[in-house]
Amino acid sequence: MSVERIVAVVGGGVAGIAAAVRAAEAGWRVELIETRTKLGGRATSFVDARSGLELDNCQHVVMGCCTNILDLYDRLGVLGEIDWHETLWFARGGGAMDRLAIAPVLPAPLHYAPSFLRMRLFSLAEKLAISRAFLAILRMGPKGRVRWQGRAFGDFLAELRQPTRVVELFWDPVVVSACNLPSAACEAAHALKVFDEGMLAHRFAGAVGVSRVPLARLYDATAEIVARTGGALHLRTSAKALAFDGTRITGVVCEDGVAPAHAVIAAVPPDRLSRLCSGTLRAADKRLANLERFGFSSILGVHLALRRRVLEVPNLALAGRATHWLFAHDAPEGADCVQRIEAVVSASDGWIGLSEDDIEARVAADIAWAVPGFTRADILWSRPVLERRATFASRPGIDAIRPRAAPEAGDLGGGVANLFLAGEWTDTGWPSTMEGAARSGYSAAAACVGGAAACSDLPVGSLVRLARGLA
Ligand SMILES: Cc1cc2nc3c(=O)[nH]c(=O)nc-3n(C[C@H](O)[C@H](O)[C@H](O)COP(=O)(O)OP(=O)(O)OC[C@H]3O[C@@H](n4cnc5c(N)ncnc54)[C@H](O)[C@@H]3O)c2cc1C
Repeated sequence: MSVERIVAVVGGGVAGIAAAVRAAEAGWRVELIETRTKLGGRATSFVDARSGLELDNCQHVVMGCCTNILDLYDRLGVLGEIDWHETLWFARGGGAMDRLAIAPVLPAPLHYAPSFLRMRLFSLAEKLAISRAFLAILRMGPKGRVRWQGRAFGDFLAELRQPTRVVELFWDPVVVSACNLPSAACEAAHALKVFDEGMLAHRFAGAVGVSRVPLARLYDATAEIVARTGGALHLRTSAKALAFDGTRITGVVCEDGVAPAHAVIAAVPPDRLSRLCSGTLRAADKRLANLERFGFSSILGVHLALRRRVLEVPNLALAGRATHWLFAHDAPEGADCVQRIEAVVSASDGWIGLSEDDIEARVAADIAWAVPGFTRADILWSRPVLERRATFASRPGIDAIRPRAAPEAGDLGGGVANLFLAGEWTDTGWPSTMEGAARSGYSAAAACVGGAAACSDLPVGSLVRLARGLA
């Protein structure tokens, strides 16, 4: 007769959900503990009291290269809820736009070349400069990135002699959207990964996926998956501490007592984890040494309900403006508006302290720059949502303090054998993304219950391999 194994997963964000699903599939009883009333953590939605609509806390996008979060959506039965955009639009002001699109037949890394060459935002000299940098990224691949680890992506751009205008209008808008810091402040290895694996390596890598249902709905199947194991989803339940007997974790201390467990997967942000760990536990596990050293970066999402259809394209980058992206959505049934736009301002610390009215005015000015005829009178209502700790800050050197999911065996202080760490801030090599969170959850579950860790990346195109000298 097999003995029931219990794993307590603390935190019901994407990392915790990913860990819970994989542990449940491996036959462990899962107790998923989440302090809030719903799953999803930073990637969730809420019912807006003013409009009654279920709104995402901010527009979240996935990319084709995000194989683990897509695998998780598949396991949750919601992969079909993702709409794919193979064309990204770039505003040039006054209604003019460029498109960057995946060409139908060209193999990677040439698949963006025709539309890139047609872009009018950049001169021929600027396009040559961008291509030079892309070639360097392509040729270095993951191995060459190691040389840049611990330095700013801005250093790489300077070494490749990228003109200031190109940094402002091309590199920065992509880096700030993916890594939530501008090139000058961002870990080079993270930004290089975004361009290499997120654009060049595979034709579909750069396709952008947007959920057509509120984010919180994507996780609905989790409760049932966990229940099948004999475990449960415990919403509105805060972990107060990890119970530690000096050698092993024995469970999770909650308001109403200790939830016993054979293993714990902690899937909360580093500052939250710090509060759950006693001094003795921290001394026993060096993965917990740097929890206070993480910085954070904010994101502002602004929901706009419009009286008329303003955007004719589904997405629009506002290169060089304070508002970085606009995503257009059809108005939900019964809504009082004709179109909804979600505006995204990454690395938005400069917006902290602004009134809702000021925020609306600034975003409206950026939309008016891109869309002639747009005025604030087109806005029926707006709802800004500022997340101060939206992502961990991808500062140069950050990867050196990101802990592994599993303890290091045999190493004194190397770790508590039955404590596993998840969360997008752990050692995934990815910037703060849902993909990083899903990978971390999968890795923690694999270390705890056995089985495969992260899913394979998209296969690298043969021309890409040739450029790297691998073919
Ligand atoms: C505004 C915004 C926009 C973003 N845009 C994108 C995007 O477009 N694409 C993308 O890939 N990523 C995006 N991200 C980043 C992405 O949301 C995060 O990287 C990812 O969701 C982190 O998941 P996580 O599970 O590691 O952490 P979290 O989502 O923070 O989950 C941790 C969970 O633990 C719970 N918790 C904390 N303490 C306790 C406790 N003591 N007891 C029980 N539960 C506890 C929390 O309530 C939370 O649910 C964005 C983030 C924000 C905020």
